[in-house]
Amino acid sequence: PYDGPSAAEIARKRAEYLSPSLFHFYSKPLNIVEGKRQYLYDEHGRRYLDAFAGIATVCCGHCHPDVVDAITAQARRLQHSTVLYLNHAIADFAEALASKLPGDLKVVFFTNSGTEANELAILMARLYTGSHDIISLRNSYHGNAAGTMGATAQKNWKFNVVQSGVHHAVNPDPYRGVFGSDAEKYARDVQEIIEFGTTGHVAGFISEAIQGVGGIVEVSPGYLPLAYEKVRKAGGLCIADEVQAGFARVGSHFWGFETHGVVPDIVTMAKVQGPGTSSSLGIGNGIPLGAVVTTPDIAQVLTRRCYFNTFGGNPLCTAGGLAVLKVLEKERLQENAFIVGSYLKDRLRGLQEKHEIIGDVRGTGFMLGVELVTDRQLKTPAKEEICNVMEHMKDMGVLVGKGGFYGNVFRITPPLCFSKEDADFFVEVMDIALSKL
Ligand code: PMP
Repeated sequence: PYDGPSAAEIARKRAEYLSPSLFHFYSKPLNIVEGKRQYLYDEHGRRYLDAFAGIATVCCGHCHPDVVDAITAQARRLQHSTVLYLNHAIADFAEALASKLPGDLKVVFFTNSGTEANELAILMARLYTGSHDIISLRNSYHGNAAGTMGATAQKNWKFNVVQSGVHHAVNPDPYRGVFGSDAEKYARDVQEIIEFGTTGHVAGFISEAIQGVGGIVEVSPGYLPLAYEKVRKAGGLCIADEVQAGFARVGSHFWGFETHGVVPDIVTMAKVQGPGTSSSLGIGNGIPLGAVVTTPDIAQVLTRRCYFNTFGGNPLCTAGGLAVLKVLEKERLQENAFIVGSYLKDRLRGLQEKHEIIGDVRGTGFMLGVELVTDRQLKTPAKEEICNVMEHMKDMGVLVGKGGFYGNVFRITPPLCFSKEDADFFVEVMDIALSKL
């Protein structure tokens, strides 16, 4: 039993000592004290099904024993910077990670977050090409440091950043986009940015395969191959931000970009799913761990100076990351994401037939979105309704995320161990909550 401070006490300290810009879901914020696979527990021992682990990339579920064992064993042995000395943990994980990537993508740089990984990727593209201009997509999220905040294209996540050399292309969004699913028309905008907004030479293009923060927007099929072609003709490198879609989450493939049949020049990732949670978050299963993977040729640009990152690739995180990869394989979690994710999407489509407020159901594997609108024709965002539904679902024991530019999209990114029974429970609870509206 939990004998720590109460929710009220924690809330008081948080208000006094932590950032005033922090927000929390729910009218009465939850005090989560424990996690086990796809479940979270509050201080009263109440269990919640976690359908939003993906934001912290808990891919094999909360506190998976294999991952916890790997981290604790490593913590007992050594935790240090491995930049200056040899240590097998970083080398073993780099090798395992490289084996998961196609083509010549086999040189790994470790960072501590997705933001750092994207900052480094953009730096490499600029050094390699000698150009400065970066093209990213409207509605994207790539991080919160100077360069990545510039590449991010939603006002919700920007401060008064100087957007040095970043151009935002029209988002190839099949539901809300001006050209529907017409990949060629969207790609023409990339060409026009190159021709009218730059010297004709660019450093690179960065995009998610499925926009996470942006509300589970799958870029139109056929768009990425066309955009890559235009950017490469202008001398640029193509960066795939796999912070949310990577690491088996999409089910049909290990990486989101693979669903579009492209091979990027640089891949960034983070949030390796960690110990026992159910989330969609990344490579470390909840451990702070990010990485950039590129080709030996492109990696050479960082030999002009020293690229130093004290804790990037530290033994604790890389031992955890390797354990996550092993669990993914041992428990065939990618296959589970495919099978259960497809089943869950079908069931959500069924809910859409019943509830007029569901405007769109989309996504792949365990990266699913349900967009609520008060008018299907006008696509008016149901901003308040979604908060009510979330609150009711929480009361019935289900935690789900929300996002999108208008904050009206459910983000369903459970840990990859989410079962068919969990999917059924999730849909029933959402059905009841929607019926109460
Ligand atoms: N890229 C994407 C696609 C993300 O979703 C995020 C985090 N939400 C980031 C980059 C930044 O990662 P971090 O918060 O670890 O810096």
